[in-house]
Formats: sequence, C-alpha cells, structure tokens
Amino acid sequence: MATDAHKCLPAFENDAAVIQFIEDVTANADAVQTNVLAEILRRNAETEYLQLYNLAGATDRETFKSKIPVVTYEDLEPFIQRIANGDRSPILSAHPISEFLTSSGTSAGERKLMPAINEDLDRRQLLYSLLMPVMNIYMPGLDKGKGLYFLFVKSETKTPGGLLARPVLTSYYKSDRFKARPYDPYNVYTSPNEAILCPDSFQSMYAQMLCGLYDREQVLRIGAIFASGLLRAIRFLHLYWKELCQDIRTGTLDKRVSDPDIQHCMVRILRPDHALANVIESECSKENWEGIITRIWPNAKYLEVIVTGAMAQYIPTLDYYSGGLPKVCTMYASSECYFGINLNPLCEPSEVSYTIMPNMAYFEFLPCDPHSGSTSNNVSLVDLVNVEIGKEYELVITTYALYRYRVGDILRVTGFHNSAPKFHFVRRKGVLLSIDSDKTTEPELQSAIDNASKLLNRFDTNVVEYTSYADTRSIPGHYVIFWELLVKDPTNYPTDEVLEQCCLVMEESLNSVYRQGRVECKSIGPLELRVVKNGTFECLMDHALSRGASINQYKVPRCVSYTPIMELLDSRVVASYFSRSLPQWDQKATGEVVV
Ligand code: AMP
Repeated sequence: MATDAHKCLPAFENDAAVIQFIEDVTANADAVQTNVLAEILRRNAETEYLQLYNLAGATDRETFKSKIPVVTYEDLEPFIQRIANGDRSPILSAHPISEFLTSSGTSAGERKLMPAINEDLDRRQLLYSLLMPVMNIYMPGLDKGKGLYFLFVKSETKTPGGLLARPVLTSYYKSDRFKARPYDPYNVYTSPNEAILCPDSFQSMYAQMLCGLYDREQVLRIGAIFASGLLRAIRFLHLYWKELCQDIRTGTLDKRVSDPDIQHCMVRILRPDHALANVIESECSKENWEGIITRIWPNAKYLEVIVTGAMAQYIPTLDYYSGGLPKVCTMYASSECYFGINLNPLCEPSEVSYTIMPNMAYFEFLPCDPHSGSTSNNVSLVDLVNVEIGKEYELVITTYALYRYRVGDILRVTGFHNSAPKFHFVRRKGVLLSIDSDKTTEPELQSAIDNASKLLNRFDTNVVEYTSYADTRSIPGHYVIFWELLVKDPTNYPTDEVLEQCCLVMEESLNSVYRQGRVECKSIGPLELRVVKNGTFECLMDHALSRGASINQYKVPRCVSYTPIMELLDSRVVASYFSRSLPQWDQKATGEVVV
C-alpha cells in the first residue's frame, strides 16, 4: 500500500472496485498495518507527544511498541486541554486540529473530547462508501426505492480556544460530504437535509416522519443509528399520528414546525392526499401496534440499526413493531476512529461480527484475563493479524492524533476475513447502565446514590442496599434504581416528596451525556426509584447461592438484567417514585465546553 495520504483513500468507480478494495486490504492486513503506522509516525515525528518518547525518527512497530506507552483518555487530558484552550502548536498531531469530536464516553462526568483533523472526514467517508456495495450483494434492488433514516444533529459548543466540539455524526451531517453529496440511486433518503440539520429534535423528527409517510410506498429500508433511536421514532408516530395525518390530508405543515428551512423545503413535498391520510389513520388508530412498521411501510425489507452491544436489549421490541424484519448492523465506529464493517449484514444480531478495516488506523489488542474479564497494562499487546479466535481483547488504536489509546471496548474474535480478524462486540468496559448513547459506570451510579441518600439523613434513614436496571419496555427507556432502606424511626419515614427529590438528585449527579439525553434529546425518560421491602437483598443473595454462587465471594450486583431476579425485585416493591423535573444540562447555556 502506498504511503501518500490520497492513495490511502481511494475513490471508487463501482461496487466491484469496492469489493476488490476490501479483499485487498484484508488479504494484506499486516502489510497495510505496517504502512499505516509508518505513515502516522512519519507525519507526526515532530509532535510534542512523540518527541517525548525519543522515537528518533523510527517508524517501525518494534521501536513504537517499546517506547510509546499505552494510555487512556485521562493520560492525554493535559494535552487535550491545551489544544482546547487554543494552543495551536503540534502537540498530538502535525496536522491542525480542525475540531473536537465529543464522545459519549465521559471523563469526570463530561464528554471526552477527541481531537480530529480534516483528513479524518475522508477516512469516515471511505468506510461509509464500503457499506452499500456489501449490502447490494445480499439484497439487490435497493436503488429502486428510498431509505427512511431518522438522523439528527445535536447542539455544538466551542472550546475556550474557539474550536468546535460536537458529536461525530453532527460533524458529518453538517459537512459538505453529506449536505452536497452527489446523487446516488442507492442512497436516496426520504428525509431532506433541512429536516436532518434542524437542531430542534421535535421539529426534525416531525418533518422526517412526515416525509417518510408521504414516501411510504417507496421506502425499502428504515433506520436510525441506534435501535433506541428507531423506537423513539415509532413512539413519536404513536403520539403524533393524528397531527401528521391532518397535515397529509390538508397538505399543510403543523404550526409547531416553525424552522424556516424546514418550512421552505416542505413546500416541495407537501400535497393534500386523502387516500394516504386514510391508510395511515386506519393503521395507527388500531389498538394493536404489532407489525406497525410493515403496515405503514409495506415495502420495507430491513431495519438498519445497531442492535449489538447495549442495544441488544431492544431486539424484542423492534421485532414486535416490525414483524421480525431483518435487523442490519452495518458498521462499528467511534468518535476516535471508524473501525470496521459487517461483511455478512443479513446475519442474526447475535452473530454480528465486524471486520476491522486495516487501513483505518493502527490497531492493537490488549488480552482480557479470561477469569476476571479485566485487562491489564502489563500484558503485551497483540497485533491485528495475530489475535486468536475465541479470545477477548480490549481495542487499542493509533490514529493521526492518538497513540496506543485504549478505546474501552471489549471484543471477541469470531474468525477472519482473509487475514483481517472479525470481532463480536462484547461490551464497553465498566458500563453498568445504558439506554441510548449514555454510559453510566458503577462509580458514577454509586456517587449518585451517595448524593441522593444524604437527603434521608434528617429522617434517620440509610440506603442499606441498591441495585439498578435499564428499563427499556417504556419508550424512551429509563433507569430504575432499587433501594432497600433502613428506617430507624418508623414514625419519621421519608416523605414521598423527599424520595422524588432523591430521583432528581441522582439524575443531577449522573454524567453530562445522561443529562443531555434527558433534556435535549429526550432519549431517556425520568429516573425511577423503587423502594423494596426489608430483606429483599437477602432473598437476592439466597437466589444467587441456590444457583451455585459462593457465599464468600457473593457481591450484590449493582445492575440486574436476569428476568427471575427482576421479577423477584419487582414482587417486593413497596413504593415507586419518579423524578418530577429535568436535571441541569447547561452546556448550551455556557456555550463553552470546560475541559
Ligand atoms: P462514541 O464514543 O459516542 O463515539 O461511541 C462509540 C462507542 O459506541 C464505541 O466505542 C462502542 O462502545 C459503541 N459502538 C459503536 N458502534 C457499535 C456497534 N456497531 N455495536 C456496539 N457498540 C457500538
């Protein structure tokens, strides 16, 4: 593989060229990796970060591995902070940092800021360009209709030094790569750019749904990034189908959609259509919404959503609403880097494996201890082509701005495509609860509980045990926290008001991605506190012991998902409380990300 940047990023003439490219890079995975690393090190040799480790111009793997430490975000934070504050010197990258991508992973409660360079857009675009040619092998004819994709931008902020900080997809949708994309019959979306780019999530969703309904016959595939996002769209249809039908009947746009760009573009689309309004009304007014997706969009062949990792919890609900349409997970990516694609997109969700594309970054793998499931810095890292089938690893990447960076994802090798490994996404390290893109860790939950339980001091009451689960039966899903209380004076039991207040204090204590999901994206419902009878956690332990757990090693699980345990907890609930207000989410108000 050539080392010139533009040669790393080919432009394809047709599907066959794409498939050949995939074959080439996977067949030569090791050589491609050598070249990618050499190119990264050559270009960034003069950066402050690499200079610290005296590579002395070396670009080979052995020197790199012996001199450069494996790091986490926290290790890089001082460097990132300087860039965010306006230092334009080549700190991490020889290329100017064009913006920060805000990861849904957090550090000290705030989103992580990933430095990005202009050229990263090309690499992301390249990965996107591989998806449809692969899909076309399995499902021909997708050029004969449209895709209904619910895509959204989120608010963006500026760092003190003036760089934009925003999620990677917001950056992509706002780029010309997306906005001015050339016509491609395989990628015709029902949603106009104006609707996708509207920062108001209600107006954006309303317009996208309305367009999707107008195009109901043409829609061949329906998608969102995550399964939770698609279910939110279905919930939206549940709530607003009457208004949507009214608009279709009259050819007008609901007054709540006041965004001038949307109003302007909808003129092209709106037309009175009684017959269409009648069909939608007749389906949506039925009590039973089973199979609603295929009833409204009868030609939809599959759903394109991520249902791997934390999103697997939504599979039964998606099946219910879609009558079991295939669920296609096309890619595995992050703010730091886009990693790989699913070369067998119609497989069952439990079988999904992503083939890492060796040209995207330099990849290394930290073996997981098979007993504890944890990773240790003292073990040597394994190269991409040398991972072993069946083993689990944490992904470590080197990009044009991050060196030997631990992503935090645990992956299991399921096989190889040529010499590039295929990985099953196992879990995100340390994440206890997740509804949408939020990721709450055990220490974060513990600190939320600690903060809320302080409100019980004046009632001489302690939280003796707690656990949690992500309730995804409601749309949007919400966190449920179970508390067993020790009330020392039964005449001074904590009031309902205070227990509701505890819910809000917990929400206030959770990280900014959670709070943004509650406030801006409305992707997470109000946190629920369920107080259980005394002795419940002892029953939980008895249950675990009866299933073979050792009494010496038993620890209360801080998150439960096993149905019998959830049923046991639910059968012992004495009262439940919800957060009555929204937590603070003030990134927008300050207009600046403080790192
Ligand atoms: P972000 O930090 O917001 O860029 O999110 C990236 C993270 O989302 C990854 O590191 C994974 O933990 C998760 N993720 C992305 N794609 C997938 C996928 N296809 N399946 C499971 N998890 C994914």
